[in-house]
Amino acid sequence: PLVLGIETSCDETGVGIVRGHTLLADTVASSVEEHARFGGVVPEVASRAHLEAMVPTLERACETAGIRPGDVDAVAVTSGPGLAGALLVGVASAKALALALGKPLYGVNHLSAHVAVDQLEHGALPEPCLALLVSGGHSSLLRVSDVTGGGPAGGGVDPMGATIDDAAGEAFDKVARVLGLPFPGGPHIDRAARDGGTVTIDFPRGLTGRRDLERHRFDFSFSGLKTAVARWVEARERTGEPVPVADVAASFQEAVCDVLVRKALDAAATHGIEDLLIGGGVAANSRLRAMALERAAAAGVRVRVPRPGLCTDNGAMVAALGAEMVARGRTPSALDLPADSSQPVTTVLV
Ligand code: ATP
Ligand code: MG
Ligand code: FE
Repeated sequence: PLVLGIETSCDETGVGIVRGHTLLADTVASSVEEHARFGGVVPEVASRAHLEAMVPTLERACETAGIRPGDVDAVAVTSGPGLAGALLVGVASAKALALALGKPLYGVNHLSAHVAVDQLEHGALPEPCLALLVSGGHSSLLRVSDVTGGGPAGGGVDPMGATIDDAAGEAFDKVARVLGLPFPGGPHIDRAARDGGTVTIDFPRGLTGRRDLERHRFDFSFSGLKTAVARWVEARERTGEPVPVADVAASFQEAVCDVLVRKALDAAATHGIEDLLIGGGVAANSRLRAMALERAAAAGVRVRVPRPGLCTDNGAMVAALGAEMVARGRTPSALDLPADSSQPVTTVLV
């Protein structure tokens, strides 16, 4: 099926067009620069930017794909989770488009879309698979037996564990701030870390102690790590010594990646799952990708990670999940579907 997907859950206005597993267009307009001076995304600013960017982004995507809007078989849109006002712009636009074209509309979960996007690069998802979803707002281990959330036969996306405080991406952004790097910090830490030592500073690995593992075996915690980095940097500054940014970045990044990969491989082994998929903005991290490939190979687990440009927010991921909804015969959403800022990961289709 030819499907157009719209993404506006945060600060990226994304429109993607796919035919089945084939990517035809992935057009993204970002308001990230408008938020940078505030050190975080300002919801009101993001909503207004989506409103201005929506129609031009739609037009550019159709042009790139060489299609007219009327050619599509369905329209898909992120219905949640995300910023309420930002989601509303995408959902209202998608409703208008579907209504005008007389085509079915699918309101889908942003997190499942981060998983489904891999089909555009590596073909049909192995199901069941384990998904390590690491982004700006989420860090979860999911058992994916049906990326569309399951039909009448059941099965779907089941959480095995999640962060109990900060998301991995949030930790990257906060630590970047402490180091004086620009927002969003993930890519800057990634770059700075290349010149640093990964074992120079021994930062804590959250929820990996024996007692913690009893209750939180597949959960994550990054807030203690973030505080440890901030304390370490403050101590340095007090003595007037220069802060070794590259070493701090590399040691912090190593601690995050170590816990993510360790717990993902433990979950795979425990549940007898042989395929690990990594998705979300933090999956763009070069160290996480390298470490996951290396350790998974040793553990006999296959790893799939979409290319970095498909890991961060985009419309193609929404189109990819929408195409799967059509292919698996899921019932389209009602045209009065709501935007749900806290849509649970288990609700893949609204
Ligand atoms: P969610 O998907 O949970 O709603 P989001 O959509 O805001 O959150 P994404 O776009 O999926 O988030 O991911 C953005 C996050 O990814 C940011 O925190 C950013 O710093 C981080 N990130 C992007 N590239 C990298 C990288 N190379 N290394 C580490 N983190 C990165
Ligand atoms: Mg973003
Ligand atoms: Fe996201």
